[in-house]
Amino acid sequence: MLAALIVLRTLVVVASFLVVARRASRESGARTQVRGSWRSYRAGLGLLAASSALETVPVLLGQSVGRVGLGLVLVLRVTSTTGCFFLYHGISRWYRAHDKGRPSGRVDWLVGISCVLGVAGLANVVLVVPDGGTGLAQQLRIVHVASIAVLLSAVAFFALTMPRDLRGRSTMVAAAVALVLVTQVVYLLHGPQLGIVLACWTAWAYLAVAYAIAACLPAVTLGHQHHRILSVPVVSSAGLVLGLVSLLGAGLVPRPTHWALWFGAAAIAGSGVRLVRLVRDLADHDRARRQARTDDLTGLANRREFLDHLRRAAGEGAPFAVLLLDLDRFKEVNDQHGHAAGDELLTATAIRLGSVLPHPALLARLGGDEFAVLLPGADAAEAVTTAGSMLAAVSRVDVVLGSVVAHTVGASVGVATSSGSDGLSGEELLRRADGAMYTAKVGGLGVALHDEVTDRAWRSRVLLSEELHDALGVDAGPCAADAFEVHYQPQVSLVDDEVVGVEALVRWNHPRLGLLAPGAFLDVLEERGMMPALTVHVARRAVTDLAAWRAAGYDLRLSINTSSTYLSNPQLLELLDELAEGTDPSRIVVEVTETSLMNEPERALATCRDITARGFSLSIDDFGTGYSSLAYLANLPATELKIDRAFTSRALVDDRITAIVAGTVDLAHHLGLRVVAEGVEDTGTLELLRGLGIEESQGYLHSRPVPAGEFLRWLRGRTPAVV
Ligand code: C2E
Ligand code: CA
Ligand code: CA
Repeated sequence: MLAALIVLRTLVVVASFLVVARRASRESGARTQVRGSWRSYRAGLGLLAASSALETVPVLLGQSVGRVGLGLVLVLRVTSTTGCFFLYHGISRWYRAHDKGRPSGRVDWLVGISCVLGVAGLANVVLVVPDGGTGLAQQLRIVHVASIAVLLSAVAFFALTMPRDLRGRSTMVAAAVALVLVTQVVYLLHGPQLGIVLACWTAWAYLAVAYAIAACLPAVTLGHQHHRILSVPVVSSAGLVLGLVSLLGAGLVPRPTHWALWFGAAAIAGSGVRLVRLVRDLADHDRARRQARTDDLTGLANRREFLDHLRRAAGEGAPFAVLLLDLDRFKEVNDQHGHAAGDELLTATAIRLGSVLPHPALLARLGGDEFAVLLPGADAAEAVTTAGSMLAAVSRVDVVLGSVVAHTVGASVGVATSSGSDGLSGEELLRRADGAMYTAKVGGLGVALHDEVTDRAWRSRVLLSEELHDALGVDAGPCAADAFEVHYQPQVSLVDDEVVGVEALVRWNHPRLGLLAPGAFLDVLEERGMMPALTVHVARRAVTDLAAWRAAGYDLRLSINTSSTYLSNPQLLELLDELAEGTDPSRIVVEVTETSLMNEPERALATCRDITARGFSLSIDDFGTGYSSLAYLANLPATELKIDRAFTSRALVDDRITAIVAGTVDLAHHLGLRVVAEGVEDTGTLELLRGLGIEESQGYLHSRPVPAGEFLRWLRGRTPAVV
């Protein structure tokens, strides 16, 4: 009868194990943590099944387990205690899968073991065990019972905190564990009486079945939850407290066992180690959190942190100001002296700025060379004063770059304020400060306060920039470039009144604003690095038109404009190579403005030599507006010099200007250059210029810049074609 019962129990436990094992292998890979927890349950039930089978052997042989020998008893205890550990482990893995608030990623055996030892220590204090509890077998039984108690607390907690879907099954498991615990405690206190042994067997079988039933129920998917209450600190402290209590208890009870002391000390040590690790984990966690909110280089708040503070300030209803500072010529420092120098400059700037800000101000680096300040409680006047101190602070930043070069940088600050009741969002304030900063930068003002008019101008500029990007952007394709028309303005010989050349001038056919002159968009284009794309478009178009005029009997020289950024771009030479394949390069004049030559004189000189080496002519455009030196001009392989409209237009009315023009013409002729006067609008000026020996004139007097077709008609009306 007894043998049949224990065989039946073993069969039940093994069958339940198989059910759980099947569930563990079926759990989908996407839920790795949940699968991990089923695997732990499988291991736990596997060990329980093994221990149950082991226990069956002596009973089948007609012997009581106790009599088979201490060895088997020890093996049984260790196996089923480890089984309980795995069941506990399964639960802790499940928690980990759904609790992202826990800093440690490693599964915590130490916590469980410490708790078990703590409970075991306590049990040694409070329980009156039949043989005094001194034997190893007894202590293993106590540890075994303690592990069931810890398992029970974990499962019970699970049952209490889980959503309803999971509560039923976890309560069932908790009840089973509770039953096992009660029967085991009774066994511990009263020894192996038949009734008690049977009850123990039944309880284990029920526990295994409870897991099997849970394994058959449908899976429940939960999002991440925060079960902080079961988090590592609480559980580790539980082990610590249990250990302490058992140590204290061992000192208080009349018949203390040394086991209580050992278990208590081990529990304290285990929990202590875990707590120390926890403190380290928390410190790491905290560092990681801080790093996400600070700028690595300067240690200031980063954009995310700044925006958070800004939103909070905007929500508080009190006045505040936002200041945005951008360093001038930072890119130059970076390019010329290297990134290390740039970093040094930024760090030094951060320190200087920090030293001049009033108390509750928040200083942040938003990225690159852009710093922002949030000034709680400040009005416009205070904010502008602070902006002034910031500028002064930045101007004192001297960084030794490489060899002992001190570099002083300037900056521009934009200021925007909120009364707190105007309903402006933090983002809007930052945008306004950005607009004001831009105004300050363009106007060289140092500090600018947001105002509607300049803000509107800034907004329309931003809009224009986006529209330009759409019209000419890399992904815009060739059709979009058709939005850019090329108009032509003739250059007329002052010697024989013949049309000798033509300058290609770009126009943007804007969908909303109509035909725009280059002044309205070229600088934005330059800023966004889209100049190469435009120049390629204009040059190709102009060369095609030039060929058409030639076919119509007009052999003209074509002038094409370049920009300062494009001059140092190798793509310019590639473009010229392409043009040279279809046209005679000596009929194409590349116009380079005097200012762009002076940006990087050495490099510009090299490029100019490359241009003329390909057979193209070179013209110095807008002469008189830059500050080139005679020596530099003499080295330049140019063939033409264009006198800027600023001089020609006033030559007739201002004798000093006439003298300058006369001097310039002399100089040019000495250098072997042809002189073209720009912006000639009246015959009086024309005659004056002719008298000064200028070779060619270009201006509204002859024609405004017009589209190719109109230009041809104009040509035909003026001179018959030479066929
Ligand atoms: P620029 O090269 O000095 O071109 C001459 C400018 O003076 C043109 O202005 C022309 O329309 C204007 N102009 C000519 N004659 C007269 C006159 O008698 N009176 C007055 N008031 N103005 C006259 P536009 O077309 O507005 O071009 C402005 C500038 O834009 C050009 O100055 C040139 O630097 C630049 N630009 C034009 N097209 C291109 C281009 O395709 N590429 C590049 N990089 N720059 C271009
Ligand atoms: Ca030009
Ligand atoms: Ca010009």
